[in-house]
Amino acid sequence: MRPNFINLLFILALLLGVTACFCRSDRDAISNQPASNQSPDAPQNQSESVARTVKNNESTSNKKADNGDFIVAHSQVENARYAEIDRQVKEEKLLEKAADKLNRALILPHDLTLRTKDCSETNAFYSAENQSVTVCYELMEHFYKTFRANGETEQAAYDKMFDAVQFVFLHEIGHALIDTYKLPITANEEDAADRCSSYINIEELGDEGVRSVLAAADAFAIESKTRTPDDRQLADEHLLQEQRFYNSLCMIYGSNPERYFNFVTEGYLPKERAARCPGEYARTVESWVKLLGEWRKD
Ligand SMILES: [Zn+2]
Repeated sequence: MRPNFINLLFILALLLGVTACFCRSDRDAISNQPASNQSPDAPQNQSESVARTVKNNESTSNKKADNGDFIVAHSQVENARYAEIDRQVKEEKLLEKAADKLNRALILPHDLTLRTKDCSETNAFYSAENQSVTVCYELMEHFYKTFRANGETEQAAYDKMFDAVQFVFLHEIGHALIDTYKLPITANEEDAADRCSSYINIEELGDEGVRSVLAAADAFAIESKTRTPDDRQLADEHLLQEQRFYNSLCMIYGSNPERYFNFVTEGYLPKERAARCPGEYARTVESWVKLLGEWRKD
């Protein structure tokens, strides 16, 4: 049996000196569970407003031309049950903050739209057709309910919902970058998108990013207990939730084995896998640094 993962989160929270904050006013991003990342978006609401961030048109010799931005599109929720979370997302400008960070870091050949909305499905997806990343409020609700059902307080479940959604959002950004830049991914794209999210979270976002990867790992672990994989899930391009759990822990542990030694000593990550994690993490970082090199602004 896997040790109670909540204990690990608690220990890690102490380790990181993380304190719960009721108002997450400095959120960067939101996201969700990978699923039909190539499915087309629903038609955009006519009242949709588009916020543009300042475009950086400077180009250097070995850099690509910057002809686009991450832009945020807002629409009205159709289901009143999501009005409050929609209000919070807009009021705290979560997508605008994520777009601003991405625009500061990356060159784009064309605009990529970021949006949150109610979708009538529990999902988050990248649409190549519409060049957009969408996070559905149903997915955020799913995360919240998952953490609550596992015994988290309302506040902890709320906080972890945003953390897990950030992991999924950056997973979908991974799909968007792979498609937009035509990156040469030789293995499973779903795994590549997970590793892209782990790379950005851990390398670029510090302890907040580590918390995001841990929250996603927690959700994977909880979900893995609630269902036995059938043929359809075994055949799916997404890795099993158990595998995504261990891969997520491996990325964090591999980023700093001395800091996260308790993943192994307390039995969350088998020592045979842990021994490979520093190398796995280093290769993941090296690969993404190389893949994104000519598309980075810095
Ligand atoms: Zn995906």
